[in-house]
Amino acid sequence: MSLSSLKKFDILLQDLSDDELMHLANKSKLLTKQYFGNTIQLYIPLYLSNECSNGCLYCGFNKDNSLFRETLSLDKVIQEMHIIKKRGFDNILLLTGEQKETAGVEYLIPIIKEAKKKFSFIGLEIFPCSKEEYVKLINAGASGVTIYQETYNKKKYNDMHLFGPKKDYHFRYEAPERALKAGIRKIGLGCLLGLHDWREDILSLANHLSILMKKYWRAEFSISFPRIHNTPNNIKLSPVTERNLIQIIIAFRLSFPQVGLILSTRENPIIRDICINLGINQISAESKTNPGGYSCNNNNEQFQIQDNRPLNEIITVLQQNHLEPIFKDWSTILSKSIY
Ligand code: SF4
Repeated sequence: MSLSSLKKFDILLQDLSDDELMHLANKSKLLTKQYFGNTIQLYIPLYLSNECSNGCLYCGFNKDNSLFRETLSLDKVIQEMHIIKKRGFDNILLLTGEQKETAGVEYLIPIIKEAKKKFSFIGLEIFPCSKEEYVKLINAGASGVTIYQETYNKKKYNDMHLFGPKKDYHFRYEAPERALKAGIRKIGLGCLLGLHDWREDILSLANHLSILMKKYWRAEFSISFPRIHNTPNNIKLSPVTERNLIQIIIAFRLSFPQVGLILSTRENPIIRDICINLGINQISAESKTNPGGYSCNNNNEQFQIQDNRPLNEIITVLQQNHLEPIFKDWSTILSKSIY
């Protein structure tokens, strides 16, 4: 990001009056319509494993937390996919912790191949991989990789990640570029809002995005806005209000109009319904954050979701806002690999 663009982005993050914010919100809404039409893409996460070797203080899957650990068998994954498909979803996000011995690349390959038979878009939110590993995952059928830096502040990153491979800040930071070099078509970035001063983290996130966009201009990019609400260890969080979240979304839409902006069920229905009219163009629905959560009930969630509405209720809200729900990712049909 050039210094002047960075400065302009930074201005959008500063304190604004209600009138200024409203003015920018209107511009953001118009730009979203211009680039994405009156549509909202829908996706659903599928948690494959809650096994993890990392000590991330803020996460329910932290190795030190006592909970029933499970990595789904291929049969169980197929059962979950069947339920998801029946609900109408066509865009799936596969998630794991970081336990390469039981839920590594070799475990994922047959699952991705199976998902490929049912879904038009397969995203991965897994541990950072080498370029060679990303190639294997892409060849199996993966279309997108999402990887959050969590926080871009190196000291805070070190404090939040007590042990495990995730302690390596740079290996994680460079993962999106390795995936792009391997030929992935879509990259999702983000940071966990609340771990550190949000302005500093968001500015670094915008810079990271900008560097990658410049170098890999043929790829598609998206930004997610996971806001942490509570943690298993009651760690002290840096406040990020709903107004701050709205301002962040507007700043990204105005500065990166072509980039997909995603809001998950971590947020409550009220704020989600506001944001679909401000700049968000993709949302999740009916999410479960525990492995096997679609076919059985257990309390092994990574985090509690805030928007529990069924899909038909969310579709009704979209239609009331003159937005068309989109389930299929048509762009995957256009190209398999872009490099
Ligand atoms: S955030 Fe990811 S890597 Fe860290 S403990 Fe949770 S599942 Fe493991």
